[in-house]
Amino acid sequence: MSQQLAVPEIPLTARVALDPASTALVVVDMQHDFVSDGGSLQVPDAAATVPVIAGLLRNFRAAGARIVFTQDTHRDGDPEFAIWPAHALEGSHGWEIVDALHPLPGDTVLRKPRYDAFYGTPLDHLLRVWRVRTLVICGTVANICVHYTAASAALRWYDVVIPRDAVSALDPFDLAASLRQTTSLLAGRVTTAAGIALTPRVTTSA
Ligand code: ZN
Repeated sequence: MSQQLAVPEIPLTARVALDPASTALVVVDMQHDFVSDGGSLQVPDAAATVPVIAGLLRNFRAAGARIVFTQDTHRDGDPEFAIWPAHALEGSHGWEIVDALHPLPGDTVLRKPRYDAFYGTPLDHLLRVWRVRTLVICGTVANICVHYTAASAALRWYDVVIPRDAVSALDPFDLAASLRQTTSLLAGRVTTAAGIALTPRVTTSA
């Protein structure tokens, strides 16, 4: 028996002004296995987010803001392969970040073993050293690695911003549920990539 559920209104913040000095862009798992044709765990909608994420990268680089890529990383026999097909095997083509979003010198790439980019990585340490307080999180999968990273960030009292046109999921229900939880449980903001304005805080000197 199927059941119809109404999707509640998910608040959209049209414009989010952020200080690039205290904001980082986190690009989650935009690797061939998730994004490209032939990938072992391809998210069909992920390819459409590539140009949107490329635009975010341009803007964040131009503003001098920190950029973190996460790279899902597994080895043979990983327990996660009881849940998902084998994917993101370290050193394989599928594990590589897609060419169009290739990290540049100065960006940070963190190999992560689980959904949550804080788990088993120095992400929290780096953000504290950088004095970053706000994370703009994009990539895939919206309700899995993006969501668990956003939740883990919010539990540490980082501000979370999700540009909804820069995330993708396998299932529209899961995507809506994730964004709903972001705005409700996590007190995060859902916006669009175009809605993110990187505006240096003006300091006045005497
Ligand atoms: Zn994985």
